[in-house]
Amino acid sequence: MSTLRPSTIIILLTRRCLYSCTHCNTFSSSSETQTFSHIRLIRTLHYLSRIKSIRTVIFSGGEPFLHYPLLKSGVFEAATLGLTPMVWTSGYFIQTREDIIQSLRPLTDVGLKGCILSADLFHQNPWLSENEELIRTELEARGCELFMSSFQMKEPASPPTLARSGDLLLRGTLPFMGRAADHIPEDMSLWEPDDLDVCPHLNLSDPTYLYLDPGGNLHLCPGIILHNIFMGHIRQYFRDFDSEKHPVIGPLLRGGPPQLAKAFNIPISGGFADQCHLCFHVRRQAAAVHPHLFPPSWYTEN
Ligand code: SF4
Repeated sequence: MSTLRPSTIIILLTRRCLYSCTHCNTFSSSSETQTFSHIRLIRTLHYLSRIKSIRTVIFSGGEPFLHYPLLKSGVFEAATLGLTPMVWTSGYFIQTREDIIQSLRPLTDVGLKGCILSADLFHQNPWLSENEELIRTELEARGCELFMSSFQMKEPASPPTLARSGDLLLRGTLPFMGRAADHIPEDMSLWEPDDLDVCPHLNLSDPTYLYLDPGGNLHLCPGIILHNIFMGHIRQYFRDFDSEKHPVIGPLLRGGPPQLAKAFNIPISGGFADQCHLCFHVRRQAAAVHPHLFPPSWYTEN
């Protein structure tokens, strides 16, 4: 028996994005419309502020800066409620020092404490990594910490990672879940399911962070639903949570993605690029029968 006590909630403010990156694990794109309404966002922040363990909310997406008034209002409300607000963005709008000041100062003025910039080859703004120190200086002068997120494609022959920190994944090799599972490079080595018997990225027995979508669904990993916070009883849900007994987390804890396949009677054959590729494949097959756990809209382009 364990309670759920994440310190961080990644609020997927919108699934709308300028891009449709092949690595995106939320299938965000310009044709996606799912976005928090203003009132739902404010209600959500009030719910979250009542959970003792939650200290930080990260406004992410999709691209949160596409809904700037909503983002600003969320940052202000979160800070007012005593949470630490952060934002995670591709920084598509930053090309000069003035861009940093004009876009981020209105947010630091209302309490933004951290900014995660996706600055890697999957995103399309090399200016960010070339000017990391300038951005850091400008943000720190306004009380806001800078974090750079950077993923690279796995070397074709290298084995999947087995390291498990449970910390928020900001760097490393790209996990093949979401849209990335449909874009495995042809020369990528594939591995037997029995070699992929552990979730490499999450602390499953005591998750440190969860995702929250505009419909109120809490996700363990994008596409794995734990609870809908608009159904209420959120504090009770967190208090009574038992990871061993959860229909998805239990099998993942006991034997990783191959055990998840057994639990949901999904036959698996062939090779997989990493654990997340197998996990996503299993969940995608199970989504038609178990949409309350694996909503189909998180497994395909919309
Ligand atoms: S996709 Fe599955 S194996 Fe990968 S991090 Fe998420 S829960 Fe773990």
